[in-house]
Amino acid sequence: MSDIQTKNGAAGATTTGVGDESYTGQEYIVRVRGIKRTYEVGGQPVHALKGIDLDIERGEYVSIMGPSGSGKSTLFNMIGGLDKPTEGTVFIDEVDIAQLDAFELAWLRCRKIGYIFQTFNLIPVMTAQENITLPMIFAGYDLDHQLSRGQELLDAVGIPHRAHNKPSQLSGGQQQRVAIARALANHPSIVLADEPTGNLDQKTGVEIIELLKRLNKESGVTVITATHDDKMLKMSDRVVVVTDGMISRIYSRKEIEALSDTTGGFH
Ligand code: ADP
Ligand code: MG
Repeated sequence: MSDIQTKNGAAGATTTGVGDESYTGQEYIVRVRGIKRTYEVGGQPVHALKGIDLDIERGEYVSIMGPSGSGKSTLFNMIGGLDKPTEGTVFIDEVDIAQLDAFELAWLRCRKIGYIFQTFNLIPVMTAQENITLPMIFAGYDLDHQLSRGQELLDAVGIPHRAHNKPSQLSGGQQQRVAIARALANHPSIVLADEPTGNLDQKTGVEIIELLKRLNKESGVTVITATHDDKMLKMSDRVVVVTDGMISRIYSRKEIEALSDTTGGFH
């Protein structure tokens, strides 16, 4: 879209400047700079994020790991434009998303980012096909496109014959497949999956991870997941460990492979 592209160019030019030594000209789909998020609970501040810097390359598969309450979902909400940081900047495709107006932010969320949640978050009265086509309706695609893309996605996530089932008529794994298809509906650049296997048994969870990894490889979509799941960690290009609102460690692909060969875990 021309508006976004215009901003893209402008933001790209300004963000490579002073105080940004880590920018190397690499194509980063996500850049997070100095993110802090403080909530207020009963008049008391809760410092959920205390200063996060993170660059994610286009096409990467990154896992965010950390104990419950460490700030993973808060970080996802910032990257996904669902909430605003108290301090700091999120660049998506070199656009500072705080500079977008409501329309542009809605466009970004609809077209560039796909969301997957632990609890699937499908609309219960809608069929699988209707859930999947909803983002295409928001994006203004015609019915022919909705139906053909919808079936293509049902095929891609391995449930070609479930178009007319409602969520209550699907297993947890099948519901998450519908949610993955919905996330991919408008060919996003980024998929944000917040503990996508948290409500699934281990075998189904592994199938979902393998599906996400395959889609990442095939379509080049950047996948960012929050997870505790060892299997998911091992498939990652990088593992980012978040502890108490800060990044405490980042494992590279080499380090992940070395760990997979030993009994050691991620800390
Ligand atoms: P995680 O996803 O790693 O479990 P969260 O990002 O959900 O962690 O939470 C980080 C911290 O922020 C926790 O202390 C949590 O209680 C707090 N928190 C999260 N969301 C809110 C909110 N909407 N209001 C107040 N506190 C919140
Ligand atoms: Mg969470």
